[in-house]
Amino acid sequence: MADVVIIGAGPAGIFAAQELAKHSDGLDIVIVEQGKDITERSRTGRDMLIGWGGAGAYSDGKLTISTDVGGQLSSLLNEDELMGLLEEVDGIYTSHDFSGGLYSVEPDDAARISARAKLAGLIYVPTKVRHIGTENCHTILKRMRDELSSRVRVKFNTRAKDILKDGDRVTGVSLEDGTLVEARFVIAAPGRVGSSWMSEQAKRLGLQMHPNPVDLGVRVELPAVVMEDLTSKAYETKFVYYSPTFDDRVRTFCMNPYGEVVRETVGDILTVNGHSWARTRTENTNFAILVSADFTEPFDDPIGYGQSVARLANMLGKGVIVQRLGDLQAGRRTNPSRLLRSLTRPTLKNATPGDLSYCLPYRILTDIMEMLASLDAIAPGVNSAHTLLYGIEVKFYSNRIDLDRNLQTELQGLYVIGDGAGITRGLIQASCSGIVAARSVLNHCR
Ligand SMILES: Cc1cc2nc3c(=O)[nH]c(=O)nc-3n(C[C@H](O)[C@H](O)[C@H](O)COP(=O)(O)OP(=O)(O)OC[C@H]3O[C@@H](n4cnc5c(N)ncnc54)[C@H](O)[C@@H]3O)c2cc1C
Repeated sequence: MADVVIIGAGPAGIFAAQELAKHSDGLDIVIVEQGKDITERSRTGRDMLIGWGGAGAYSDGKLTISTDVGGQLSSLLNEDELMGLLEEVDGIYTSHDFSGGLYSVEPDDAARISARAKLAGLIYVPTKVRHIGTENCHTILKRMRDELSSRVRVKFNTRAKDILKDGDRVTGVSLEDGTLVEARFVIAAPGRVGSSWMSEQAKRLGLQMHPNPVDLGVRVELPAVVMEDLTSKAYETKFVYYSPTFDDRVRTFCMNPYGEVVRETVGDILTVNGHSWARTRTENTNFAILVSADFTEPFDDPIGYGQSVARLANMLGKGVIVQRLGDLQAGRRTNPSRLLRSLTRPTLKNATPGDLSYCLPYRILTDIMEMLASLDAIAPGVNSAHTLLYGIEVKFYSNRIDLDRNLQTELQGLYVIGDGAGITRGLIQASCSGIVAARSVLNHCR
């Protein structure tokens, strides 16, 4: 028996637990987490995304303080309310003695970048970003674990099997170890890694959901000096582009100055991502170029589509593929000797030199190559033959479940939050969603 069961100990689940623990002495709170405690986790394989801290534990620790980026909470909360929450969450992360750097572009610089971007056919999106760094983010999440340890029961290495209901009310959660936890409130925060599980649960419980598009693309890596003019002013520079051939919306995402490219395991698929440390620098900057693939009927499985494209790359490269842009443009594969001649030295060592044109759909490849050419006008060197492209980068967004403004589903007492609800896409909004759900539970308990 418990009052509240939280499924998943990523930022969304942790912030829900913190808020509940802070404002109620009597509530019995249980967190069920399929992975390990943070002190036992490593940055490899499945461990990288699951366990205390979720995907946040080895993230870059960029907090994007903007209502337009990192999720769709702005569709449920009003602008002021959301901005207040973003600032509150930023304050909680920085209360742990790691404030990181806060980067916001001076208005004059923003106007100048925006004008140059327009000339290149790009839309510049200025953002305010705090960079905490991977190692500090990990330490902060560990401190949160220590603070909560006396207030919250955590069941590690335990997977939630089914969310249970009686009529229109949630009644608890059954676990894969055979245990049943009865509870008045269930807060599901399974992250992207749990998106298929969450969709199955929503279907079983009869909850309305809508597919989100899947974002497909590559991770671009180049010498940091190429982006220095931009990254020195704003840690993360975001551009949006409408490709001439397909009129698709293409965007840069998750820029990591002096960072490294990493392999990410999503189920049985290997994809790429990037991050940077607060105290160690590489000589490169990386960022993703992503295209949103949105489908109309009869197709309703964007996650399956993204998985198939990533599987194709894995099949050809026995993992992640890396290609020099010059080789892609010349219609030939990158082989180990060509890679050795690249001026950009790859930070991801175990990627296979290969040919991305064998696995990326023509439409997406064209979109990416057109955007790289436009970016070259704003940061000369981006479209160089020595720029490295790693594939495939895929962002699977969970199906978006119908939620009210408290993030409660149609089933009384069941909240679905964070990236697993398809409503957030980053640390700060995922954390905010935990606070929103917890406050609603606290209101019901008063
Ligand atoms: C390499 C990398 C870098 C990133 N960098 C940034 C960044 O700089 N800035 C940013 O804003 N975002 C970044 N992100 C994204 C960010 O980490 C996520 O948006 C955030 O962690 C989402 O939080 P969440 O709590 O919703 O889900 P998650 O962090 O994914 O946590 C979900 C948890 O639920 C658990 N779970 C799932 N299903 C079950 C189940 N059935 N039973 C029990 N447990 C379950 C999982 O094991 C996991 O621990 C990065 C991600 C990666 C991988």
